[in-house]
Amino acid sequence: MAAAVKTDVTRDVTRIERIGAHSHIRGLGLDDSLEARAVSQGMVGQATARKAAGVILSMIREGQIAGRAILIAGQPGTGKTAIAMGMAQALGTDTPFTTIAASEIFSLEMNKTEALTQAFRRSIGVRIKEETEIIEGEVVEIEIDRPAAGSSKGAAKTGKLTLKTTEMETVYDLGQKMIDSLTKEKAQAGDVITIDKATGRIAVLGRSFTRSRDYDAMGPNTKFVQTPEGELQKRKEVVHVVSLHEIDVINSRQQGFLALFAGDTGEIKAEVRDQIDQKVAEWREEGKAEIVPGVLFIDEVHMLDIECFSYLNRALESDLAPVLVVATNRGITRIRGTNYKSPHGIPIDLLDRLLIISTVPYTEKEIKHILKIRCEEEDVEMGDDALTLLTKIGIETSLRYAIQLIIAAALVCAKRKGVEVEVEDVKKVYTLFVDVKRSTQFLIEYQSEFMFHEIQDKDADMT
Ligand code: ATP
Repeated sequence: MAAAVKTDVTRDVTRIERIGAHSHIRGLGLDDSLEARAVSQGMVGQATARKAAGVILSMIREGQIAGRAILIAGQPGTGKTAIAMGMAQALGTDTPFTTIAASEIFSLEMNKTEALTQAFRRSIGVRIKEETEIIEGEVVEIEIDRPAAGSSKGAAKTGKLTLKTTEMETVYDLGQKMIDSLTKEKAQAGDVITIDKATGRIAVLGRSFTRSRDYDAMGPNTKFVQTPEGELQKRKEVVHVVSLHEIDVINSRQQGFLALFAGDTGEIKAEVRDQIDQKVAEWREEGKAEIVPGVLFIDEVHMLDIECFSYLNRALESDLAPVLVVATNRGITRIRGTNYKSPHGIPIDLLDRLLIISTVPYTEKEIKHILKIRCEEEDVEMGDDALTLLTKIGIETSLRYAIQLIIAAALVCAKRKGVEVEVEDVKKVYTLFVDVKRSTQFLIEYQSEFMFHEIQDKDADMT
């Protein structure tokens, strides 16, 4: 019995970890004319900011605003990160989207501008196009001589194969592989076969034994081209999107591509990056590659220091710059690394180039709706009275605190074997876990019993 209880608890804990704070966000929830739907794709309210983000998004999609920067500013818990996540979801997987918190830049393993450079280059995609040729031919004659007693699998096969194609030699080179593959497909004279020159893949077309995988070889990007001899051939376009950072790592001799899996890429030499940039520029000229400017999102941007800000200014000038989206909840504050104050702790010259989207506090109805969505996301049944109480708590304290109480209240409810969370469960967790306001009040009352008790009465006004 005790063991069973223990297993349940473990499973619940794993589940808590698995549901991220923004897992309910599936896009920006806009309609075709970029108006924000009241509730859509997990998003509630904050209509103006969502619409503004949608405008930016359509400019990104049309490739119009590489190298521009957007600041999402607003009070804590007003959905700045949620909006950035919504943008990432709406852009889809083909557009690189990198998210970092500014404090991640400061690490002992890498200097801060190198860390920023890597984040920038992660956010630039290179769409590489490769064309492979598919040769089409007709089987004229097949003669297979299989030993009578051998099992068919792995048995020796000899044979003669004659094909009519525009490039006999290539076909001939494929030799035994071709005979194997055609006999497996039970090809006969008169069948049409295709050979992908890049992969050497052979497919028999037509009649009952055309297999679905044969069609993959040609794919949706197949187009017909006229060869000099006037015969029709098929070409297939293969497209991969990789980030500049991935190309850097793969080509950096110290690192090698395995570093991509370990995530331990270390510093990359400037020469390597220059060579890559040159190569990519050549590919672009030859029409082999296109740049896909993605998005770099830096949360808590006030944590960057003056050197990082000047790096950002410079990096945004490059033609290989992504769209930079930064977010902060700070008002006028000190710019890290200086004694100067500035709005959002961002130097004026960088601020000047930012488009600013501001988020506003939520109404009671919106908070209730967000909490309801989070209950669904966390698989928690909650009665309406309990939800109303939780909403009140959200207004009095913070949205984030109220969101955190959901799973705690559900655990209390499960413990009393209840089916849905009720007012009593919410009240209980509200007394078990204090919010910032009550915690601060407690500190003020008992500060002499803690270390570093330097709170002055006027500082305590923050409550
Ligand atoms: P901070 O300044 O403290 O970083 P923030 O403005 O980035 O706060 P979020 O982290 O985005 O706030 O929001 C807090 C929580 O509320 C998250 O779980 C987020 O997904 C959710 N949330 C915020 N706004 C919305 C919204 N408009 N619709 C749905 N969920 C939201």
